[in-house]
Parts: sequence; C-alpha cells; structure tokens
Amino acid sequence: MTNSTSNTITGHTRLVGLVGWPVKHTLSPFIHNAAFKALGLDWCYVPLPVHPERVAAAIQGIRALSFAGINVTVPHKQAVIPLLDRVAPHAQTLGAVNTIVVRTTPDGTKLLEGHNTDDAGFIRALKEAGFDLAKSNVLVLGAGGAARAVIHSLLRSGVTTVTVLNRTLERAQALVAQVSIAYPSRELLADRLKPDSLIQQASEANLLVNATSLGMSPRINHSPWPDTVPFPDNLTVFDLVYRPRQTQLLRQAAAAGAKTIDGLGMLIYQAALAFEIWTGQWPSIDVMRRAALQHIDFS
Ligand code: NAP
Repeated sequence: MTNSTSNTITGHTRLVGLVGWPVKHTLSPFIHNAAFKALGLDWCYVPLPVHPERVAAAIQGIRALSFAGINVTVPHKQAVIPLLDRVAPHAQTLGAVNTIVVRTTPDGTKLLEGHNTDDAGFIRALKEAGFDLAKSNVLVLGAGGAARAVIHSLLRSGVTTVTVLNRTLERAQALVAQVSIAYPSRELLADRLKPDSLIQQASEANLLVNATSLGMSPRINHSPWPDTVPFPDNLTVFDLVYRPRQTQLLRQAAAAGAKTIDGLGMLIYQAALAFEIWTGQWPSIDVMRRAALQHIDFS
C-alpha cells in the first residue's frame, strides 16, 4: 500500500530512523521522508535519541519493534557492531556501521545486517563535483570516524598518496598504521595538524579534505587554515562540515580561486545509499537535496 500524497502514518507504514546522541539537529528525517513521498512509499523516518548506556537495548528494540532498518550516527557507529548478526566486509574494515537493515529469513527470523555508506557517499559527492581521483595526492585533516571512511574510500578508489594531519598526532599515526595493513603498497603519512605542516603538505597535494569538526556550527569562524597565510590555488577543497555549507575554510579557498566542495553532497549520497539498502529503490537526489536545503541552518 502506498501513501503518495503525504507522510501520514498508517497501519502499513514501514519504519526507519536515526539512532544517535544527540539527534535533535539532524536533517535525515527531512531528506528521507521527502524521498519516500516522492516515490509513493508508505515509509516513515524518525529520530531516535539513544543514550550511550542504552545502545544495546535500542538495537534489540529495532528488531522487536519491526523496524525495516536504521541509520546510526555519533557516538554509536562502532558500538553497534558487536550487536549485529552480520556486518558487510567494508563496514567491518572501517570499524563503523552507519546503516542497519533488518532481513527476515524464510523461517521468520529477523537478522540485523550492518553497512557503511559514508565512504561511498564521499566518493559519489567527489565524482559529482567532477574531481578526477587519478594520480591524486590527498591531504586529509582529522583522524576520527569521518576521516577513516574518507581515507578507506580514497585508497579503494586507487589513490596512491594520502597524508593525514591531526591535532592529536597519536590518533593520526594509529589510523595510518591500521589502514596501511589493508593497503601496504600505498604512501601513507601522518603528522600533527599545525600551520607549518599544513602549509607544507598543502603545497604538494591536489585535494584537501577537512574531516575535522573545525568550522562546524556554532564555531563558524574557525578554520584549520591560518588567516595570515594565502591559500594555495592548486587545491580542490572538500569540507565534510555541512552546517554551515559555506565554512570559513571554503570561504578562504574560494577567495584564492580554489575549487570548493561542501559537505552536503556526501550527506545526501550516504542517505541515498542507505535508502537503497532498505527499500531496493534509488531515490531522487534532487528531492533529497531540496529537502535538506529547506531545513539546513545557514547561520
Ligand atoms: P570525530 O570522530 O569526533 O573526529 C573529530 C575530528 O576533529 C578529530 O580528528 C579531532 O581531532 C578533530 N578536531 C575536533 N576539534 C578540533 C580542533 N579544535 N582543532 C583541530 N582538530 C579538531 O568526528 P567525525 O565523525 O569524524 O566527524 C568529523 C566532521 O565531519 C564533523 O564536522 C562531522 O559533522 C563531519 N561529517 C560530515 C559527514 C557528511 O556527510 N558530510 C559525514 C560524517 C562526518 P583530535 O583527534 O585531536 O580530537
């Protein structure tokens, strides 16, 4: 049964949602519900705030409450893994799950299957912006969950040289050491995120990815790039931060004539890939993007 004219909940409505803490400012319900409506699917996406101490109970609840699946966001992307029945190999390698689908076996058993769509979402957004990854030398800022997904996706796409700069050097070194095991023939370097290393590495790279939370609302005037140093125009700059879309880093880059890519595309594509895993249908990227733009905070 479809529900094409509105997102009215019916007795047939299939439920999906977002488990995270907090989830108050998420754009995902707008993005997914607009796409369900556009395809005439009687599905509904709801925010599910789950305190870190309750994550195991919440994941069991997904099965008990007959959800079709869920997205998982910070801080639960690693914690959910041992709670699942199976995990896709690439999500296992990343050590993070952002999408769970509930599969029903012929005997009625419900199995929780974990996936990660952040990495493929990043690559889709990069390609949509027309960036050619061949022979790229990529500089990644940050060593958290998003940086890990970005680095794996770059290496899987054939990038040979990746440098990771992070405020906490040990975290960058640990990430590089771990990723190097899967990609022994690639050139992977780790250094501390500080002005001189950033300027030096940026002069050798052709893609700079900000995977730190620097510049994210409410600290919208923060940027990893020092104010006093001209921004190199040889770089394409991809800022994963999408709130605000035009970060201070992207403003600095654009002013120098560098090509810029904001974080909204990655958000949309990771959502579209999760949507496809749950429903088996590819959603309208335009519908998803318009829904996000209507509700994103531009401050
Ligand atoms: P995370 O695991 O908490 O990692 C945060 C990273 O930011 C760490 O590398 C941390 O460095 C660094 N950092 C935080 N504050 C800093 C500061 N004041 N100076 C320098 N470095 C700082 O978070 P995450 O999940 O990786 O997310 C990172 C960013 O990506 C967030 O803004 C998130 O919204 C964005 N993101 C966007 C998408 C998308 O679809 N566009 C998807 C995922 C994430 P330390 O290791 O030194 O703490």
